[in-house]
Amino acid sequence: MQKDFPEISCDILIIGGGSAGAMAAIRAKEIDPSLDVVIFEKGEITYSGCIARGMDALNIVAVPGISTPELYVDASRMACEDILDEPPSYRMAQRSWDMLRKLENWNVCFPVDAKGQYEVLQVHPKGRFCVTMKEPELKTILAKRLRDLGVRVLNRTMALELLTVDGRAAGAVGINVRTGEIVACAAKSVILTAGGTARFGLPNNGYLYGVYDYPGNTGDGYCLAYRAGAELSGFEYTLIYYIVKDINAPLLYITLTRGAKLLNAFGFDKSREHPSIKSMLVDHHREGSGPMRIVMSHLPEQRIREIEEILFTTERPVQERFYEGRGVNFRTGEIELWPTECFLCGGHGLTGVRVDENAASTVPGLYAAGDTSLVARGHLTGAFVFGEIAAESATEYARRAGKTGYDDGQVREAIRDRDARFGQGANPIPVEEFEYKVRRIINDYIVPPKNEYKLDRALWWMERFRQELRETVQVRDVHDLFKVYEIENIIQCADLSAHASRARKESRWGMWHYRTDFPERNDADWVKHIVLSRGTEPRDVKTTIKDIVRLQEGAR
Ligand SMILES: Cc1cc2nc3c(=O)[nH]c(=O)nc-3n(C[C@H](O)[C@H](O)[C@H](O)COP(=O)(O)OP(=O)(O)OC[C@H]3O[C@@H](n4cnc5c(N)ncnc54)[C@H](O)[C@@H]3O)c2cc1C
Repeated sequence: MQKDFPEISCDILIIGGGSAGAMAAIRAKEIDPSLDVVIFEKGEITYSGCIARGMDALNIVAVPGISTPELYVDASRMACEDILDEPPSYRMAQRSWDMLRKLENWNVCFPVDAKGQYEVLQVHPKGRFCVTMKEPELKTILAKRLRDLGVRVLNRTMALELLTVDGRAAGAVGINVRTGEIVACAAKSVILTAGGTARFGLPNNGYLYGVYDYPGNTGDGYCLAYRAGAELSGFEYTLIYYIVKDINAPLLYITLTRGAKLLNAFGFDKSREHPSIKSMLVDHHREGSGPMRIVMSHLPEQRIREIEEILFTTERPVQERFYEGRGVNFRTGEIELWPTECFLCGGHGLTGVRVDENAASTVPGLYAAGDTSLVARGHLTGAFVFGEIAAESATEYARRAGKTGYDDGQVREAIRDRDARFGQGANPIPVEEFEYKVRRIINDYIVPPKNEYKLDRALWWMERFRQELRETVQVRDVHDLFKVYEIENIIQCADLSAHASRARKESRWGMWHYRTDFPERNDADWVKHIVLSRGTEPRDVKTTIKDIVRLQEGAR
């Protein structure tokens, strides 16, 4: 029957065309070129997501002869302080070497020395897994590849709601962030790859978008999964990095692994405290021995040039202008470090949709990968490998699912809701000011140090913000409208984070989950997951404590 809204259908719908989504799309087409694969991408796929251009390293590779998947699981368990489901991490490490070789076949550059050896750096508590990469065109390589394979990309399309039928994923409703047009996409299976919550706490530079992670990521993947009934975990792992002041750009792995020194405010060398325990650096800073500084003046000119080349070409080329503007020359000056804003992320942290080693969520037909999923601290390797695994599982599910179908009512509800929000033109508060306030309150009450009183205040505020978002925030155009959807998701993530932080009645991961009312780590009671899922209403958060999944004897 003809619908009164635009509708498309496909075999697999991928939500988010960043590292994991792009890799998932490519893998699905490799498995079966006749599969109809659609990507909803909020930005423009050529440069969207964490790897807007390139990356300087694939952080986790079990290089034969240097390290093993078993060693990686041990190292990661230490880094996660035991809150780690081992099977997904093991599977990621097992496939990491093949992933590197695959990328090389696509002409992604991993430099080798005269003997043909990769540069493999140590950034984990034990073992060397971080392989240097030098590829400023990584994202364009992926985007071209998936287009050549015939993947359909709907750029500027933000997924608003998952469509479900009988409790299984059946597609999504999206909105074009330029025109406001709603589109329904029916799919046999769905992969969520919409990143983490980069816009969570407010950075101390005061800019809404001046954050470490990709600012287009507002926890949409978590919220879509949550509303569809999936289990989430790790929302109490409230990450704060310690990197370049004001620009919030990465630097520690790149410089310290190449011989730079890390000095505290009194000139003491703290280089040994890095790189595996970044949260401790935040502790030092807050205790008053910061700001810390990176110093490279003792390094040979060739080393400094190597570092400059990585920083100024591959990851965030804008850094070159930033240092020029500050009058910082690596040969003579220092780089001042500072804590970043607080953010939620699966790839850097432990926050995400709970998945098994097949990337399956607890909702049938719904898979997740990358920073949206909980493959603890998987970084880019996790996004790529689990992008592939999600595609393999989703392809299999789509094959069994047969045909597509969904309830029109969900789409009509999204249209009704959009139109109601367009009626908010006369409200007094500009959307940017409202976002500023929400994220300032997140800083006040959710960012560690935490305690029950503060977390209760956070919950009170989030409830109030939900109401104010409709009653006081001005929606003048489509731009305001999609910002309102994003803020709604930031509020939902804050609510989830406050619930999870309240439930974990101990302190863990240094400053990242430090509770002043439970200041000690308590392994006897808390080597557990705090699992969140929706109750009858989306705002009723159900909290359950679940066991950690270990590798079965003999699985190694
Ligand atoms: C600055 C920085 C440096 C890093 N350096 C390294 C490194 O050197 N080595 C390493 O191994 N890892 C590194 N990482 C980590 C790694 O890059 C990430 O873990 C990985 O890229 C995450 O991939 P993703 O696909 O989950 O997220 P992203 O690549 O961010 O993709 C998410 C995509 O989803 C889209 N999206 C969001 N919401 C919606 C929605 N509602 N509808 C549709 N689309 C949506 C976004 O526009 C975006 O394109 C770094 C990360 C950052 C931020």
